[in-house]
Amino acid sequence: MTNLSPWHATVLTLFPEMFPGPLGVSLAGKALASGVWTLDTRDIRDAATDRHRSVDDTPAGGGPGMVLRADVLAAAIDAADAAPDRPKERPRLLMSPRGRPLTQSRVRELAAGPGPLIVCGRFEGVDQRVIEARALEEVSIGDYVLSGGEIAAIALIDACVRLLPGVMGKAESASEESFSESLLEYPQYTRPQAFEGQPIPEILISGDHAKVASWRRAESEALTRARRPDLWVTYESAPKGTTKE
Ligand code: SAM
Repeated sequence: MTNLSPWHATVLTLFPEMFPGPLGVSLAGKALASGVWTLDTRDIRDAATDRHRSVDDTPAGGGPGMVLRADVLAAAIDAADAAPDRPKERPRLLMSPRGRPLTQSRVRELAAGPGPLIVCGRFEGVDQRVIEARALEEVSIGDYVLSGGEIAAIALIDACVRLLPGVMGKAESASEESFSESLLEYPQYTRPQAFEGQPIPEILISGDHAKVASWRRAESEALTRARRPDLWVTYESAPKGTTKE
């Protein structure tokens, strides 16, 4: 079924002023301005009910820091879902260092759908009960700890938006880039022909397209084997031309 509505991201955050941020410039920014995708940034604090607009409390069982309250976050999610024109079924993500690592294949799935609702955590994290009650899918952008989920959400949205139809021109095609076949991308070169005594590899200026393609494939394979044994195993075990990381 063709999805006629623009791809949509809802972001729940304690720092709405961080959006669109980098998503407002370049490819994503142009696509946002032209309506290819839409963004609804919501302040979690708007769902607080006390006069101090509290969103966090101390961890049950003790320990450092604060935890985002289940009742406040659940109310924020429910209000976002009740907004007019929101997709009835959409992924609900929680940016989290203990989530499943984000991959290009998950990005492709998210870009092909209606667009996610994304919760940006802060403090020590989020009360487990709201993660379960609102079926939040925890997603990590890497094995390191950020101070909040906003930068992770921006990275995820950027990766999705560039795959939306019409966002990338031929000049920025995704067909040969890293992960397109569980391989890292080959090295790129451009003018000048010589840089600090280093020429562009001869084969790239030979005009022989078949030889260029096979050189690039060999370079991609060598890089992947050296840097990403995990991807290399996937690539090697799949029939050629079929792997998608
Ligand atoms: N105490 C948490 C832990 O040890 O897993 C870390 C909380 S972190 C300081 C605050 C928020 O930043 C998290 O709730 C999450 O939303 C976000 N965050 C931090 N690192 C992240 C990562 N690698 N990927 C995605 N989100 C991350």
